[in-house]
Amino acid sequence: MKVYLASCDETSRLANLLPSNEGRQILVDSLIEAFGLHEICEVFDVEPADEFELQKFHSNEFVEELLREREIGGAATAQLDTSYGLSYDCPIFPELKGYVERIAGSSICAAEKLLECKRNPQSERTAVINWYGGRHHCLKEKAAGFCYVNDVVLAILKLRTRYRRIFYLDLDLHHGDGVENAFRFSKNVTTCSIHRFDVGFFPGSGALSDTGTYNFPTKRGLSDASFRQIVENKIIPLLEQEQPEVLVIQCGADGLASDPHGEWNLTIKGYTDALLTALNSVTSAHIMLLGGGGYNHRDTARLWCYITGQMANVSEEWTTIPSHPSLEHFHEDRFEFWTDDVCRAKPGRRDENSLDVH
Ligand SMILES: [Zn+2]
Repeated sequence: MKVYLASCDETSRLANLLPSNEGRQILVDSLIEAFGLHEICEVFDVEPADEFELQKFHSNEFVEELLREREIGGAATAQLDTSYGLSYDCPIFPELKGYVERIAGSSICAAEKLLECKRNPQSERTAVINWYGGRHHCLKEKAAGFCYVNDVVLAILKLRTRYRRIFYLDLDLHHGDGVENAFRFSKNVTTCSIHRFDVGFFPGSGALSDTGTYNFPTKRGLSDASFRQIVENKIIPLLEQEQPEVLVIQCGADGLASDPHGEWNLTIKGYTDALLTALNSVTSAHIMLLGGGGYNHRDTARLWCYITGQMANVSEEWTTIPSHPSLEHFHEDRFEFWTDDVCRAKPGRRDENSLDVH
């Protein structure tokens, strides 16, 4: 399988400014680089998206607001703009314009890599990895849930110019509401989300499946075993039924046991094994992997680095983290890739799903 990886210094710099995940991107990039994965994958650069590309999904007024020139430097402004959702969990920050252009551009460029495969029918199965993307909550004219632009929808719309059947699978702790809303009535795009669902739990949707959308709401404590059962018993039959040409997966890391949300109880190996099982069930589909949530930044970096390594089929033992510019962040883990926290679920967190999943 050919594996592409989005890698661009300016996009990394801007992704690193996301208020909800400040400083995360540098950990992700440098860990991937430390293991030499950027040399094994074929890296591609990111072109910023322009207003016309953003308007393929977002309203003109919202795009105008996102792309407004703002002062660079200084603290994030506390300007309230509730009509576009640019407040509270999505505050305006000085380099918002560049951030939006680059994050949207990263997933559009990722989609273009898969369009190249379509132009060349001889091309082998291809995976495109873009850890900058996966901002699944943003709506047509409103930022939401730390998501200022819906790069996932923009990428799928780009894919739709040449592919007929696209399957979107959302593995983030939170329901993939923005993507579901965008394609609710699409015959060509199927959306599917496994997520935590409860009264008052953001975003509050995703209780039921509708035509063309599939939702698997879960209770607290989702374990590797329950996650795997949902993938094997629910997701794989759907993939076999739909036979997509492209499988787009949002790999949010906020379901890991060590995430500060403290809701699910997944390990990095358990998550990755379930993901690979899903990918291997439809071997004819090209793949796009995107990032998303993940608030334990070190473990998010570990998960995405490990997934990248598995996709690239590296024979890496994942023991001591090699020397790299962010190595000091792993000091308290004694520079080990696998720590007890990463390998084990939280023993006191009961899996309330274990009786429900059949
Ligand atoms: Zn999330």
